[in-house]
Order: sequence, then C-alpha cells, then structure tokens
Amino acid sequence: MKIEIITIGDELLLGFTTDTNAAYLARELAGHGVEVVRRATVGDDAEAIAAAVREALDRTGAVITTGGLGPTADDLTKPAIAALFGRRLEMREDIVAMIEERFRQYGFKGQMPVSNRQQALVPEGARVLENRHGSAPGIWIEDERNRWVAMLPGVPREMRGMTLDVIIPEVEARMGSVREVVCSRTLRCMGISESHLADLLGDRARAVRGLPVAYLPSLAGIDLRLTTRGMSAADATTLLDAAIQELRPIIGEHIYGEDETDLAGVVLQRSRARGFRIAVAESCTGGMLGARLTAIPGSSEVVLGGIIAYDDVVKVNLLGVDPATIRAHGAVSEQTAREMAAGVRDRMEADIGIAITGIAGPGGGTPAKPVGLVWIAVDVDGQVRASHRVYPGNREEIRQRASQGALDLVRRMLGNA
Ligand code: AMP
Ligand code: MG
Repeated sequence: MKIEIITIGDELLLGFTTDTNAAYLARELAGHGVEVVRRATVGDDAEAIAAAVREALDRTGAVITTGGLGPTADDLTKPAIAALFGRRLEMREDIVAMIEERFRQYGFKGQMPVSNRQQALVPEGARVLENRHGSAPGIWIEDERNRWVAMLPGVPREMRGMTLDVIIPEVEARMGSVREVVCSRTLRCMGISESHLADLLGDRARAVRGLPVAYLPSLAGIDLRLTTRGMSAADATTLLDAAIQELRPIIGEHIYGEDETDLAGVVLQRSRARGFRIAVAESCTGGMLGARLTAIPGSSEVVLGGIIAYDDVVKVNLLGVDPATIRAHGAVSEQTAREMAAGVRDRMEADIGIAITGIAGPGGGTPAKPVGLVWIAVDVDGQVRASHRVYPGNREEIRQRASQGALDLVRRMLGNA
C-alpha cells in the first residue's frame, strides 16, 4: 500500500516547529508494510490544503493529514477537505457532549469554550475517529472510488496515540494478510569514529548478509543501522538477528546497546547490578549528566546526587580539590578532573564518582587548551581513570558530547554486568 502524508501549519513552513509528525508516521507505517511515497507541508490556508490533498488523491488515493483540527480560525483542514469531497459540515451534538465532558474532567474552569464547538463539525458521511488523548477527534473521509483522507490532530502526542489506536488497524485491515514490511535494527556505538568503524568491519563495511550498512553519527555516538525491505516481518527478524550476531563480536566493546537504548540507562543498569551508587561532579556540563541519569525511572536506587562545581571555589570547598592542583595544572586538566571524581565520591559516600571539566566555548580557549577540550574522570571504588577529548561543535554540542563521553567511560569501567 502506498500513502502520502500532508502536514499542515504555518509554523512548519516558517521553520519554528520541526515536522516530527511526518517522520513518526513514516516510520510507524513502514513497520506495518505501508510505504510513504511522498510528504508535503502546507500552511494554514484552505486553498493550499485542498490543492495538496487533491494532487495526492489523484496519485495514490490514500492520504493522511496532521494539523489544523483545532478550535481556532487558523484551523482549516476540515472545511477545505470537506469542500474538496463536495460534502457539507454537520454539527454533531454527540461530539459536543464528548468535548464538554473532557472539559469537565480536565479543562480550564471545567467549562468548554464556545470555540471548541468547531471541533464537533464533521463532513457528511465521514467517520469520526476517536481521540482518547485530546479534544479534537480525527476524521476519516472516503469517496465512492475508495479514495480516502484521514485527518489527525497536529499535537504530536495526540497524533501518535491516534496512529496506533485507529490508523494502523484501519490500514492493516485494508491490506489483507500478505504483508511486506520495512524493518530496521540499530547497533549503538561509542568511543570510535565512523572511519575506524568502517575499517574494523572490513569486508562487511558496506553490507552484511546483503543488507546495506548505514553509518549515522550523532551526539550520542555512531549508530549502525541495517534495514530490510520487501520481506515478511518474520523473515526480516531472522535476517536482522543473523546480521547483528555477525557484527557484534567484530565491534565488541564499542557497542553500548541496540535501537533506542540510552547510554545513561546502560550505566544505571550496570551500576545497579553491582550494587553501586553514583555521585557526579560537573563543571562545564552544569548538571546535564545528572539530568541524563535522573531522567530514567528508577534512578533513585543508584543516583545519590551531584555538585555543579562551575567555579573553582566550589571545586575546592565542596569537592576538596587542592587549590595547588588548580594553580599548577588549571581547572581543565587531568589532575583536577581526578580530584573532582575522587572528591565527590568521598563526600557523597558513593561507589562511583564521575567528574567533567572542560571548555564549552565559544570563548575561553587557548592554543594549549582549545574550545572543546574536556577532561573526564571516573572513580570506581578508589580506582580512577581519566580521559580527554577535544570535542567538535558549538557549546550545546560540546556539553552533550562530554556528558555522553563520561557515561561511556563509566560503562567501560563497569564492564558487562
Ligand atoms: P494544530 O492541530 O494544527 O492546532 O497543531 C497543534 C500543535 O501541534 C502546534 O502548535 C504544533 O506545535 C504541533 N504540530 C502541528 N503539526 C506538527 C508537526 N507536523 N510536527 C510536529 N508538531 C506539530
Ligand atoms: Mg495548526
């Protein structure tokens, strides 16, 4: 089955909002054997919406739109598409009652504003798609030649919920039993460059078992992604499993997980398995590492706390770094990082102390200590290891890479728990 996606909203065209809806839909549909063959974005303009939908219907006859279902004057999706199908809009009192009920439960002052009545307008003969995640229901409209448009709300959380609740089941029912899907598996790697990784893979650098290898560098390291097309889900899983098993021993310790795995989660899990508790001392990352770790549910079993030791005074007074160390080597140095890690571990009575000190820029760099230089030290039970990198990128990127780098050093020191 081939589908087109049209995302609607001035904010998307202006670039203020990134179109995550189209990406989500494409991924989710591909996993169910539906091919997205074209994506378009239009503004909050009835003519532009109608033109885009008309063209897409002429090509594929199957269209999903997101956005423009809200209660305000810039929400034009329904009237534009109803007009295209030659249908009137009807006020559905049952939907008004439903939205009123939502407002009684969650709404501001418990009363439905009059504007929300607009969300109860439905093109004649169209099907209402229940939205358990927000007030605007979706709409499924279809003509006598079975050409259809599914309209979903723009709010990503609602759009995602409705995709799983109604869109996937509906397209699956239309596709019948023989289904070819697009399946991917990702190996997440850290502490190795793209080119080193390719060298390591040798003969398999371009393809493994006939599957092309995609190298996807990001602030989280390098992802290696293998993708199958035109196979059943079962065959795809078997092939991907075999290919991943072939790659794993070659890349070895540089792999920290698969697919959506977060390195902070890996560190927590390995620490928990050893009964270790963590304390962090952060200079240039200003709490990012602590935020990464505590973003994961259950982190309280492992994370004790942290100190944002931004100024040298804090490094000395709260972490016990020797002022002479800072005078002799500077705040961004191996020695200072080591004393920070040992200091925070000692003072918080933790098993693992993690320290980060670096120059995030854009100012403050020197030829000897350029912007991007970061020293990381990890103290596990009194054994301290330190490493440094000169990270590329802007301030935000350097800080994110430093947090990820620190987590990776902990992971390597803990080994496979
Ligand atoms: P709407 O349903 O058009 O009122 O959109 C509601 C909100 O959803 C907007 O303010 C955007 O922040 C967000 N939104 C709309 N379309 C998209 C999209 N394609 N990708 C990500 N966010 C979106
Ligand atoms: Mg909008």
